[in-house]
Amino acid sequence: MDSRFPELDALYRDVVLDHYRAPRGRKALADPDVENHGMNPVCGDEVRVALKLKDGQIADAAVWSRGCAISVASGSMLAELLVGKTSAQVKRLHEAFRSMMHDRPGEEGIDLGDLEALEGVKKLPVRVKCALLAWTTLADALRAWEENGAHRPAAPSTTEHLE
Ligand code: ZN
Repeated sequence: MDSRFPELDALYRDVVLDHYRAPRGRKALADPDVENHGMNPVCGDEVRVALKLKDGQIADAAVWSRGCAISVASGSMLAELLVGKTSAQVKRLHEAFRSMMHDRPGEEGIDLGDLEALEGVKKLPVRVKCALLAWTTLADALRAWEENGAHRPAAPSTTEHLE
């Protein structure tokens, strides 16, 4: 019996631990078009994201996380969703996931895949930053690329000022 996540029911806990133990998207990506590094100082979590972009879509994605189970699992779940998505689609997913984490009504009909398993994290405000770290890091990278074609944002991302 794993008692680390009493807020997550057993089925969801298994999904989270599966991603934690075998993170998806943890791979080398040669010559990424966009990359970024993010930190969650509250928990000590770290993430690196790298993307290959083609014709306005994410053609390949790598996510390396180090930290608590929720941050690693969330990054792994994110990695599974990225390929084939446009930046606009990623923004909608990010907004839907943020809404879920902050217990606000979100856009209907968005498929968050395994991220649904993290819904119980909304009851743990300090862990919400763990769950959002990879997303914030990715969103900052895509914004820098869209706004000025930057390979990476001017500064690494942090969850420090996240709501
Ligand atoms: Zn954490």
